[in-house]
Amino acid sequence: MHIYDLTLSSLINMLQQWNEPAYRAKQIWQGLYQHLYSSPEQFTNLPGALREKLAERLNFSPLKVKLFLDSSDKQTRKTLFELHDGHLIEAVLMRYDPNTNSGKGRRTLCISTQAGCAMGCVFCATGQMGFSRHLTSGEIVAQVMYYAQALKVEDLAVTNIVFMGMGEPFHNYENSMAAIDTLNDPDGYNFGARRFTISTVGLVPQIKKFADEKRQVNLAISLHAADDTERLAIMPVNKRYKIDEVINACKYYVEKTHRRVTFEWALISGVNDSPEVARKLASRLKGLLCHVNAIPLNPTEGYQGQATDRQRAMVFKETLEQAGIECTIRMRRGIDIAAGCGQLAGQDSPA
Ligand code: SAH
Ligand code: SF4
Repeated sequence: MHIYDLTLSSLINMLQQWNEPAYRAKQIWQGLYQHLYSSPEQFTNLPGALREKLAERLNFSPLKVKLFLDSSDKQTRKTLFELHDGHLIEAVLMRYDPNTNSGKGRRTLCISTQAGCAMGCVFCATGQMGFSRHLTSGEIVAQVMYYAQALKVEDLAVTNIVFMGMGEPFHNYENSMAAIDTLNDPDGYNFGARRFTISTVGLVPQIKKFADEKRQVNLAISLHAADDTERLAIMPVNKRYKIDEVINACKYYVEKTHRRVTFEWALISGVNDSPEVARKLASRLKGLLCHVNAIPLNPTEGYQGQATDRQRAMVFKETLEQAGIECTIRMRRGIDIAAGCGQLAGQDSPA
């Protein structure tokens, strides 16, 4: 069992079974998520016998660092982790300069929810490698704790967490939400719900469930096409859930939560970046509280598509905005370290 897989109440139960007082559970919880201890020896406020028992029965390091890479500007660090059964996952930290207008000193951590992914989007390095397994909630939490511990040395902290690494978080719904609940706990890491963003390929029942739970977490939908045939050509999930159904689920989400939805759009040269496509997209999104986050494609080995150039990206944005839909063009980060979703684990895997 990984220590990060435990909820506070299961930790309390476990300690009761060990005949320890309940306040010990709180001490352990605070040690993990407030002091950011990474090994049992650091819990010096616990009796030695209890520390030993913890060390014997629980795994404190579910992730082994296999490799890390810094981008040339040192603002992006990608870490490749090995799980206990040998699977590889990645997490990427992006730092934004406090002296520039955009980002203002944010430190955004992008984490994985699965080893591989079953959704098979053709442009995605993770999709190209197929599905291995779901991560446990503890394996998701551990990625955050690893970076939180590393940043603490610089007296810094993670400011935003995005579920945009490997895997489809809504395919691993329970564990992804359990990880958010652990990280959000006010007595623990206390990471505000509004500073999380979940990105989904568009699994309709889970979008509705998420809406019903009325979480304050941001929701992003990977759309990438405004027409079902075109979307199906790059995203097999469109066979199951058509664009209309996805947009209707988003309407339901906005009604329930009054929160704005983000649509993600990887701009692929000659595929989904024309002004006509932008107009079609705008007409489909009309009336919905939303905005579009477009990012030039990160080219991958298994897909021949290329990135849209800056000028064409700006025309796409302007066309959308003229039709009343807000759009941001995001710049790609960490290209020199293959920081795109799944790119590094893909290179290193035997497949
Ligand atoms: N499975 C979820 C979250 C992980 S992918 C999802 O698909 O939303 C995070 C984002 O990266 C998604 O919007 C995805 O479509 C996008 N993406 C994947 N491969 C990409 C690539 N090669 N270039 C640009 N964006 C990519
Ligand atoms: Fe999976 Fe997201 Fe990649 Fe599609 S884009 S294959 S859903 S990780």
